Amino acid sequence: MPERSYLDHAATSPLVAAARSAMLTELDRVGNASSLHASGRAARQTVEEARESLASAVGCHPTEVLWTSGGTEADNLFLTGAWQARHADRNRVICSSVEHPAVLETHAALAARGADAVRWAVNEQGLVDLDALDALLEVPTAGVSLMWANNETGVVQAVAAMAEQSRTAGAWSHADGVQALGHLPVDFAASGLDALSLSAHKVGGPIGVGALILRRGVGLAPIGYGGGQERDLRSGTLAPALVSGFAAAATVAVQSRETEAVRLGELRNRIEQIVAGIEGTRVNGAGVERTPAIVNVTFADVRADDLLLLLDAAGIDASTGSACTAGVSQPSEVLLAMGRSEAEASGSLRFSLGHSTTSVDIDRLTAVLPDAVARARTAFA
Ligand code: PLP
Repeated sequence: MPERSYLDHAATSPLVAAARSAMLTELDRVGNASSLHASGRAARQTVEEARESLASAVGCHPTEVLWTSGGTEADNLFLTGAWQARHADRNRVICSSVEHPAVLETHAALAARGADAVRWAVNEQGLVDLDALDALLEVPTAGVSLMWANNETGVVQAVAAMAEQSRTAGAWSHADGVQALGHLPVDFAASGLDALSLSAHKVGGPIGVGALILRRGVGLAPIGYGGGQERDLRSGTLAPALVSGFAAAATVAVQSRETEAVRLGELRNRIEQIVAGIEGTRVNGAGVERTPAIVNVTFADVRADDLLLLLDAAGIDASTGSACTAGVSQPSEVLLAMGRSEAEASGSLRFSLGHSTTSVDIDRLTAVLPDAVARARTAFA
């Protein structure tokens, strides 16, 4: 048995071999992709080949790929860039209430700058109501952001329908696809979206690189300034090693998606069976479509932090899935938005699976979870 079981892939996933080898090839080379000499041209070639690979993995045109430092920057770039470009005529920005902080905090920052920033509510399963969007779009709107798959619950939203409604109202549509890539069929062109955020390290690529896939003709305003790289929207020297690692990992993740969905789905079902055998538990988002990679469970009469540490001591890495500021855990905003009480939100844990997860990891969880919950309940009482 391995020493530890890593069940926190939604936080970050181990590097896959293809990404490592693509990066190692590039790390020893010199060249700025903006330079005109041979070394620069070689770096440019690497960057453009990676752009083509990523584009073909996610169903977009290579010119629609804008490299960023990760999903966070891509989310910031879309929302702020859309509002800055359009707020004189379209001051509204809409995002769902279960977005990643990269969207929610950007949305709040825009409100502080005078945007009509509206949150789109979810029901108790974590799904938005598409009829409610039509009402929100009656006011001229710069952009709408809806997460494709939720990072805490795995709940899948109807992003193509959102894109269609947004287009009809003249608003740009954006999905945070960070947790969707590799777990759901992601085809940018077919989705009808104007923009899509991606991150390499959630699919076995390196930390520190991502992309905003941006439909041609969507005129975002830049949010940072410099040498004008990436269609003038994301200045900064391009990183050949990082983008080629990202493209390699995304290609593997997309090629293995269907078989992985079956494999991980079975492992996820096993986790849910263990959970069903423990009294006072509830799987969040049960009954609606979720990715096979995430299980989020509320344990009654448990502080999730206690359970996390007990599992940690037993060799299992899981996550509360919620924000942790200066070492103090906050109840999950996502679960609160789904109508859970503060106590329920504070008693919830996320197990997330990925390419390195095996049945041995689930065997370990089966062996330790019931006892860990019982001990966490004793500590709670
Ligand atoms: N969006 C979602 C849904 C995420 O899960 C994450 C990662 O936690 C991000 C955005 C941020 O991505 P990155 O870590 O690449 O900045």
